Amino acid sequence: MKIETQCLHAGYTPKNGEPRVVPIVQSTTYCFDSTEHIAQLFDMPTEFMYSRFANPTVDAVEKKIAALEGGVGAMCTSSGQAASLLSILNLCNAGDSFIAASTIYGGTINLFAVTLKKLGIECIFVNADASEEELEQAFRQNTRAVFGETLANPALAVLDIEKFARFAHRHNVPLIVDNTFATPILCRPFEFGADIIVHSTTKYMDGHAVQGGGVIVDAGKFDWANGNFPDFVEPDESYHGVSYTKEFGAMAYIIKARMQLMRDFGCYPAANSAFLLNLGLETLPVRMKQYCENANYVAKFLETHKKVASVNYPGLSGNKYHALAQKYLPNGCSGVISFSIKGGRKNAVLFMDHLELASNVVHVADIRTCVLHPASATHRQLTEEQLVAAGIDGGMIRLSVGLENKDDIIADLEKGFSFVE
Ligand SMILES: *Cc1c(COP(=O)(O)O)cnc(C)c1O
Repeated sequence: MKIETQCLHAGYTPKNGEPRVVPIVQSTTYCFDSTEHIAQLFDMPTEFMYSRFANPTVDAVEKKIAALEGGVGAMCTSSGQAASLLSILNLCNAGDSFIAASTIYGGTINLFAVTLKKLGIECIFVNADASEEELEQAFRQNTRAVFGETLANPALAVLDIEKFARFAHRHNVPLIVDNTFATPILCRPFEFGADIIVHSTTKYMDGHAVQGGGVIVDAGKFDWANGNFPDFVEPDESYHGVSYTKEFGAMAYIIKARMQLMRDFGCYPAANSAFLLNLGLETLPVRMKQYCENANYVAKFLETHKKVASVNYPGLSGNKYHALAQKYLPNGCSGVISFSIKGGRKNAVLFMDHLELASNVVHVADIRTCVLHPASATHRQLTEEQLVAAGIDGGMIRLSVGLENKDDIIADLEKGFSFVE
């Protein structure tokens, strides 16, 4: 099946007389006719037992997303943050480290740099544009993973996935890619060597700003028995002595994540949330195409506007990441643009407060056009100096282009510009 067809049909095939649409199984609990049957399930979880870590509605969505990314399995989580957290905890113990591109989402930076550090796991940040030599210098004996974003939020840096994968594999560790902004419609990181994919499904996948969620997808190709990951090979005493590589083969990573981490943390989505996510996924190809078209149009409009100092959108031919975008995002660079208005913070705020169609929200990748002022919101804790280092100036606006008519979006932006000198 091609990806448009998978978005509609993968993950759920009703049998005779069953509902056409994935049903919402709003039950924490599943019935069995014998103690012996339940005992067997604890040995080999082939049926649903308890909705803290598996549920039929969520399962259908997991199978669909695994198909879209070309992986062997997926596990949904209750947020994107939970997906990033578990993707690392499945590989690193206290005393281990991992490498991440410094352009990743601010929430992920905080999780990696502050919270994981308290758990004894160190994140070593590298420039997303680092050369292979610079990457080599960051690597340590205890490094167990490499992490980056296909299209970084909000820096819009395009990750050279093949380079990062080559580097990770040279050291026998996996590459994890956060594919939130691209979605599998615009980029399929497994095809470029990534081993694990995470998403905040809160963004384009859901698309309608109705519920938060995340997902981890496993390519099923990494050799966990290479000596660096004894937890995958040696018996897990917390789970009747199972060896994940021996029992589950290519599914070792994703089953370990579910049977150890989801079992213990329980950050699993509700069936109703998965149902809504599935609705979003059904129209994802149509929406992504239009986001790309609208954002391209708006980026070109901003590029020539006399009140705009600079525009950052990898789809523009003058952009620093344009060549990488042509390789990794040949069908479009998604819907988020960042631009700086002339006159700094004062004008950015004036402009944004006079927009009517575009809403001022702490969200991105919504079906409706929305804006955010990083200097007063997501990056508020930074000093003016740190803002400069992060490439964020007071005049910078993150614009998430929605699916309204392009001309209405432009008219709204023009209205905002008319209030600034
Ligand atoms: C929003 C976001 C996250 C975090 O996801 P939540 O669903 O908000 O927890 C992670 N990565 C990227 C790229 C994001 O944009």
